[in-house]
Amino acid sequence: MAKMIRKNYILAPGPTPVPTDLLLEGAKETIHHRTPQFKKIMQEATELTKYIFQTKNELFMLTSSGSGAMEMAVSNLLSTGEKVIVLSAGKFGERWEAICKAFKVDAVVIKREYGQTFTPEMVEKALDENPEATTVFTQLSETSTGTVMDIENIAKVVKGKGKLLVVDAISGLLAEPLKTDEWGIDVVVAGSQKGFMLPPGLAYVCFSEEALKKVEKSDITKFYFDVKAYQKNPAPWTPAVNLIYQQKMAGSMLKEEGIENVWERHRILAEAMRSAIKALNLELFSDKPGNPLTAVKVPAGIDGTKLVSFLRDEYGIVIAGGQGTMKGNIIRVAHLGYMSKFDTIIAISGLEMALKHFGYGLEYGSGVKAAEEVFERENV
Ligand SMILES: *Cc1c(COP(=O)(O)O)cnc(C)c1O
Repeated sequence: MAKMIRKNYILAPGPTPVPTDLLLEGAKETIHHRTPQFKKIMQEATELTKYIFQTKNELFMLTSSGSGAMEMAVSNLLSTGEKVIVLSAGKFGERWEAICKAFKVDAVVIKREYGQTFTPEMVEKALDENPEATTVFTQLSETSTGTVMDIENIAKVVKGKGKLLVVDAISGLLAEPLKTDEWGIDVVVAGSQKGFMLPPGLAYVCFSEEALKKVEKSDITKFYFDVKAYQKNPAPWTPAVNLIYQQKMAGSMLKEEGIENVWERHRILAEAMRSAIKALNLELFSDKPGNPLTAVKVPAGIDGTKLVSFLRDEYGIVIAGGQGTMKGNIIRVAHLGYMSKFDTIIAISGLEMALKHFGYGLEYGSGVKAAEEVFERENV
């Protein structure tokens, strides 16, 4: 292939692209974290983040990746030997399972095949079969399979039975509707490098009053992620000062846009991507595809791992492949965070060219056309 200018496009479900204004905000002089100036910034950033979570509950900002917030949820809410239910149909359901195991929590794992979702009825059945279980753990978006969970109705079932609900919204937040307080979700966790359009390094977690009552009783050993330390001081340890500047700015930008509009732009990009996949005679991997990303089955005879590295090394387009047993069999394209309709067009066009390179029969532009028609219909 003749040499072309190389430009990189990060179209994976985290880290996602960061707009220049936010990058520059992070370049401001680092101030001391025990000053009134910083405390004010931290407080404002927290309030804006609560808006994104649609909650008035206590919300903590952690210097860690999203998994740190997952760990905080388990190690503070529960006690050793406590029975909980984990919904698991992908790598991140498995992460809840692993964290519960690490803290000796008795997790009853309700497994489904990768790519499948959980209905509220399934959750109800699991709770009926395990009446001692106190808490249900799930994802809003299972990023490893591109599947969305019906959290609103799962919450109705869980809360109806007087149990607690913990939602990993690390990739789902901002891309899927989520109303923490209105739906009665007890704990929600998220991270900076997905829908927030920020670099990696911050995680967030909010706890309902009911959840905080349970925190009082938890007997699990913890230190860095001890909720009580964060209740005394929102920055018990040195926080990622510059990331907090960026968090505050991202929160303002997103609030100004309006959370419903943010959900809507993710929905439109995802519909365009799904429409393109159909036009290219490709198959979606998930039985309930969500809006943060689209997982696609790699056509027979093509190695998905090679497809992903070809897109990266030849075109500069970074998408994600499959994890674990899905490796080589699926690809995952994000439409998450700071992405416009033309980022989605790049993903589809790159995919068309790469698939053709590997011998897949398609007509150039058919996926792009389908996406453009969605944008036209949606008037964006
Ligand atoms: C990315 C992601 C995680 C892991 O977050 P880290 O920031 O890598 O620790 C957990 N759950 C879901 C659903 C994710 O998308």
